[in-house]
Amino acid sequence: MIRTLEAIVGEINKVKNIIVVGHIMPDGDDISSVLALTMGLEKIGKNVRAVIDDDIPGYLEEFPFVKEKIKSYDCISKFPAELIISVDASSPDRIGRVYDHFKFARSIVIDHHATNTYFGNVNWVDKFGATAQMVLRLNKMLEVEYDEDLATVNLLGIATDTGFFKYSNTDAVVFEDVAWLVKNGGNIGLISNMILENKPLEHLLLYKDFLNEMKIDNNIAYSHITLDMLNKYDILPKDSPSFVGELRSIKGIEVAITFSEGEPNVYHVSMRSKDWFDVSKVAVAFGGGGHPRAAGFSKETDNLEKLEKETVNAIKNLMESYEK
Ligand code: 5GP
Ligand code: MN
Repeated sequence: MIRTLEAIVGEINKVKNIIVVGHIMPDGDDISSVLALTMGLEKIGKNVRAVIDDDIPGYLEEFPFVKEKIKSYDCISKFPAELIISVDASSPDRIGRVYDHFKFARSIVIDHHATNTYFGNVNWVDKFGATAQMVLRLNKMLEVEYDEDLATVNLLGIATDTGFFKYSNTDAVVFEDVAWLVKNGGNIGLISNMILENKPLEHLLLYKDFLNEMKIDNNIAYSHITLDMLNKYDILPKDSPSFVGELRSIKGIEVAITFSEGEPNVYHVSMRSKDWFDVSKVAVAFGGGGHPRAAGFSKETDNLEKLEKETVNAIKNLMESYEK
């Protein structure tokens, strides 16, 4: 790990103009990693463009520095990037059109997904709870000085990717990093207020409909959110809430799945497991990726029921091969 980090620091020291890119369908860890790395690089005098080739959901868009720093794809069209750093993305398709620019610059991949395809010139893929923890290490190695703002944006990803310090990826290193960030001004109260205590009422109303559509098949719970269901409450697809954690929380459920229509007939499938089942294997089989307890894929189909059946069957088949 130290040698890869040193190689990354060497690449950064050689250049001035850097693109930092996050993944499509951005989550808290992605936004946090992009922001913390961008702000860190700016503090050491680099010229940085932070880009995500997708819409940012409302609850993250309101987070400090997001609107100011993270721009859409167009912002890099004339930027003479010498180096591109991708964070929290496991494969090239996850960074959208920004991957086209890998032809013209050196590239670094920093990610914590075991399903990573190593698509950069230098790849640091490691088993951290959050990519934001890897950015923290890189910033420290670059001798970036932390203030309250940087500590808070860096803390965001560790909080969200560990489910606010309760998932099985919440190890001692997570708490050490969190303690360091809080000592350096990280504001966990602000993060939990903005992420957990800030739900639009429409999302709760939609949740009633989502529960009405829920099906339980042994230890698998699943449901869907279609564009029609979103339209009923004037919710934009980019702001579509994730209820997959609620399904997993049901007693006796090992795997939870949600099917969310983002564009007509295109579904994002989110999977979570509680204790022993590896959902990333199913995600990879369907062309996606992720972690053993949280993974996903996208699929185009005009037959949602069939997609649901295929996904549930794939999970059941793999379950049978486990020796519990
Ligand atoms: P979510 O279900 O919240 O969208 O994603 C759960 C995890 O799976 C995240 O770590 C996310 O990066 C990963 N993931 C979700 N969808 C995809 C996908 O289509 N491709 C890949 N490679 N990873 C995905
Ligand atoms: Mn992550």
